Amino acid sequence: MSDLWKTKEVSSQCQCFPLVIVQGFLGRAESRIWGDFERHLNHDCHGCERRVMFASVGPVSSLHDRACELYYSLVGGTVDYGEEHSAAHGHSRYGRTHAQGLYPQWSLENPIHLLGHSLGGSTIVKLQYLMKQGHFGPRAHPDWIRSINTISSPFRGSQAVYMLGERVDAAPEVRPFSMGAMLSKVIHTISYFSPILPKAFDFHTESRRMSFLDISIPSLLNRMWKSDWAESYDAAPYDVTFESADQREANQEGQPHPRTFYRSCATYLTEKVEGNDNFHTVTSSNLLSFPFSPPLYFLARVMGSFDFSKIRPVPSFLDEIKVPDDVEQGLLTADYRKSLPEEYWANDGVVPLFSQWHPASCSSIHCQHVETMSPTPGIWYVEQWNNTSHMSLVPLWVASDCQKQYWLNLGRWLRAIEFQNQNI
Ligand SMILES: [Zn+2]
Ligand SMILES: [Zn+2]
Ligand SMILES: [Zn+2]
Repeated sequence: MSDLWKTKEVSSQCQCFPLVIVQGFLGRAESRIWGDFERHLNHDCHGCERRVMFASVGPVSSLHDRACELYYSLVGGTVDYGEEHSAAHGHSRYGRTHAQGLYPQWSLENPIHLLGHSLGGSTIVKLQYLMKQGHFGPRAHPDWIRSINTISSPFRGSQAVYMLGERVDAAPEVRPFSMGAMLSKVIHTISYFSPILPKAFDFHTESRRMSFLDISIPSLLNRMWKSDWAESYDAAPYDVTFESADQREANQEGQPHPRTFYRSCATYLTEKVEGNDNFHTVTSSNLLSFPFSPPLYFLARVMGSFDFSKIRPVPSFLDEIKVPDDVEQGLLTADYRKSLPEEYWANDGVVPLFSQWHPASCSSIHCQHVETMSPTPGIWYVEQWNNTSHMSLVPLWVASDCQKQYWLNLGRWLRAIEFQNQNI
């Protein structure tokens, strides 16, 4: 029997900073799904058990709205999306009220570690950016976040949103009859009935007045025809476009804060196709890997040979490579397929590899692509897991070896940070 299964004596003197977990798009962060990871997280903790909290944020909310929801779910009180933001995007300034925050003592003296899966990672980066901007008032400080840990996060966008419905030439418009358009109709319908539905269907959409308490049936049908949520600049799908990512990078969002530790885990399950192109594909052996692989397998294949050159505005990463002068933009040429590196096509079924590393390009951010247990603040540390899909590590616990290894490593990493902290 592995030593992971030893019973531990729990110390009441635990000095570890708590870990807050943030879900991805359409995800649910709760212990029932995330499972029995804590024994691996605390494996090297010599008896103490780190407090773990699951934050509740809107599963379809934009990054800005999710970051606000995350902040107030921790400190308590009424979610304030900001006067300027809510006026610009046509929704209520205030959202739900948290009578009791998850961690009201959150402060410089009581900092936290944050872990986000997929869009949850981008949400955490947005939260720290808004804290730096003073969005939550003068007291909230980016140093309250001791570390940011991400798994498969689409920091720099993903071609998957275009494949699922976002228009390549006119985002945030969504193609009719696409998966994205269908999904938006489902979300509008569920939100309409949300006051009488179980908590599992809670999309945190009260600031958008989508329920039957606020709108009539004709108004619902109108929104299902042309969604004011899904086809807006303040929605999760738009936040995953390359256009939105480029805007965030231009605003220096995601640039590491000098006293926070950063670690990203990038996953992929594709392989480079033979030949001169940098396209990626998946082999049939990947189809059998658990969990949720069949839809991800299909997406991974298409993402592996996606034509980036049709996207308007042209993504910054295409501007960076040298496309020969005589090649007209908009044509997928052999040259372009060779000059764009393979990490743009390598993917985990939802997000390309390059996007998961960190916000911004390697040349414009402080990063290290090495596995280490000696962290320095202010640097994005990147580790890569191959043969791993978007859903292999989290959220659904299946007690796989890679899941156990991820949590064991994360526990060691957080302890290494706290050890450094004691020596400051
Ligand atoms: Zn502890
Ligand atoms: Zn908003
Ligand atoms: Zn890098």
